[in-house]
Amino acid sequence: MRQMGGITLETPLIEIEGIGQSFIAKLKRLGITTVTELLNHFPARYEDFSQIYKIADLIPNQEATIQGQVEEIEGRKAWRHNLYIVECLITDDTGSIKAVWFNQPYIRNVLQPGRIANFSGKVSGKEELHLSNPTYELVNEGRETRHTARIVGVYPETRGLTSKGFRYLIKPVLDNLGKLPEYLPKEILERNRFPEINRAIKQIHFPDELGEALIAKKRFEFEDLLLLQLWNIKQKIELAKNRAPKILADVDYIKELLKYLPFSLTLSQKKSLWEVLQDTEKEIPMNRLLQGDVGSGKTVIVALAALNTAKSGFQAALMAPTEILARQHFNTFLKFFPKFEGGVALFTSGEHRIFYGHNLITDINKKKLENEVKDGKVKIIIGTHALIQKNLNFKLLALVVVDEQHRFGVNQRAELLSQKDSALPHFLSMSATPIPRTLSLTVFGDLDLSIITEMPKNRKTIITKAIDTKERATTYQFIRGEIKKGRQAFVVCPRIEPNEKTQSPITKLEWQKMEFKSVKEEYEKLSKKIFPDLKISMLHGKMKAAEKERIMRDFLEKRADILVTTSVIEVGVDVPNATVMMIEGSERFGLAQLYQFRGRVGRGEHQSYCFLFTDSSSSSTKQRMKSIVEAKNGFELAEKDLKTRGPGEFFGQTQSGMPDLAMVALQNPEMVKESRETAVRIIKTDPGLKKNPELARKMAEFQSQIHLE
Ligand code: ADP
Ligand code: MG
Repeated sequence: MRQMGGITLETPLIEIEGIGQSFIAKLKRLGITTVTELLNHFPARYEDFSQIYKIADLIPNQEATIQGQVEEIEGRKAWRHNLYIVECLITDDTGSIKAVWFNQPYIRNVLQPGRIANFSGKVSGKEELHLSNPTYELVNEGRETRHTARIVGVYPETRGLTSKGFRYLIKPVLDNLGKLPEYLPKEILERNRFPEINRAIKQIHFPDELGEALIAKKRFEFEDLLLLQLWNIKQKIELAKNRAPKILADVDYIKELLKYLPFSLTLSQKKSLWEVLQDTEKEIPMNRLLQGDVGSGKTVIVALAALNTAKSGFQAALMAPTEILARQHFNTFLKFFPKFEGGVALFTSGEHRIFYGHNLITDINKKKLENEVKDGKVKIIIGTHALIQKNLNFKLLALVVVDEQHRFGVNQRAELLSQKDSALPHFLSMSATPIPRTLSLTVFGDLDLSIITEMPKNRKTIITKAIDTKERATTYQFIRGEIKKGRQAFVVCPRIEPNEKTQSPITKLEWQKMEFKSVKEEYEKLSKKIFPDLKISMLHGKMKAAEKERIMRDFLEKRADILVTTSVIEVGVDVPNATVMMIEGSERFGLAQLYQFRGRVGRGEHQSYCFLFTDSSSSSTKQRMKSIVEAKNGFELAEKDLKTRGPGEFFGQTQSGMPDLAMVALQNPEMVKESRETAVRIIKTDPGLKKNPELARKMAEFQSQIHLE
């Protein structure tokens, strides 16, 4: 057992007095296995029990602390409900009051008559006041209290481990912890008036004043952002040490290609394309994020950059998150650049196809395609993550583009980049997920940004309406009218939520099953009852690639009027003739996701509509529907969505460590800016962090913690 200053951050939890096996198991549930992790489990909020009240002064409904002597204490079983009640009479020099606890019989052993204790909690009752379930703590001469008569932290709890439990565990650790080295440069502490580390860690758990807790919290939030920014800068510097192929920007060739397009590029598209071409002309690897709202026209930019790469004699790879999208990108090349003879291939787990211009599209066997890629005959290769499999070797891969990059684990991205060639390919990721700028600067802070800020001119506003149960029939009527005019409709179904009793995490397969159930039900309803005379098809994640392909192609070529689908349709799918997006159970989708769905229509010359069906009439649902109806800008909406549903929902759980930090970033744009500037300043004067060894150590810890490598 270690005591008296003997605890360090490396001390195993089990060796600390008072932390036994049962605590260890409970802590583990919250991911706490070390002293550092225990100390980093910060209170979510605080309760102020600092003032000690006299019993005579208590008023109903107040949260208060009193100090008194235990006069009597007794326990009894309640005659119903299986309850055990402990009642205790407490007195001070002004009066007496009863305290009541349920199902905590052991309290009788602690609060024996004659003992002096503090009691913090809610004052209940009207005439005869009592304290219900107060936190109690014996008063010992000269010992600081942990739970009462002070500002106490309220912690994120787990079953069997309450805030009181955390205070019980953390206090002795803090009291016996050796002095921690400060890792933030003094200049930063002074500039921001942050407490130094030892004070900060103490004050965040057991604050003397609320203000002390809050500034300590701010210090730790800033610290995390700073570490992330330092990491971002370090990534940039590391990347710049590598060499990349110099891809000449052939302006004449690009101008010629532009003539094939049935439209001219928007100013924003031109600017982004130019930024990409300038980057890929350099001999250091590009690492850029191309952001643009749904339908803003990112694909064509990527296509032009890929064609320019091919023209220089190099290869380009384009990786999409789903097979449908990979195929669609492939078809975009065929449609816009049918004369390109350099070889464009489609490579997914189920499909291997090649195109050498002049409408010559052929299926090819996988092995053969792999060889063509290796020999450099295929210049542009489009696929899913099947592209990063081991036996696919490129001859001269110079440009890698990843669509909807946040859907890929950062690890996969690293894999693509770390091909052990002498030169690294240039890297471009595209995202239609509008990530607010404060977040891009943190989460994707190691990337350069190109943002498409305007939509193509020919776009009409999509008429969006929230539809409740009453308006269903007339809306179906309207949809029928659109179809009679020759248009098509999407119907998106939500997941059926799993039974609440299932505690264990849901596997991808189980999700798919649940999605399938809801799509199937909707499909049956629409094809048998509502639109028996129309052609309706169904698409979901459980289908084989070839089947999905067939259904998508049928829909694109108008062999079906209505496509009932799961959220597989969410990203990128382009069917210009579809003018109706109907979303079932809208309340179950995030705002950003609804926005993406809506972006599936309004892509052609026809007026388009988005109908948000919901059977929920709760005010929060109404509020959310209103946001999407009024949304003109995906960025704004994403910000809202992030604030209400949190970054965990938004990013998925792939980027562990990130969501919390993302929340901090979102709420503190100023802090993001400050942390970025600070990081730049530090790296400028001390690039290798040699003068700040403690900070360097902290960086290493941070790095392994967010699994970004
Ligand atoms: P996203 O940015 O969502 O990936 P796409 O690249 O799929 O958008 O483009 C959406 C549609 O807009 C496509 O049909 C594309 O051909 C078309 N498009 C792209 N750029 C323009 C433009 N400048 N003017 C008109 N239509 C365009
Ligand atoms: Mg797209």
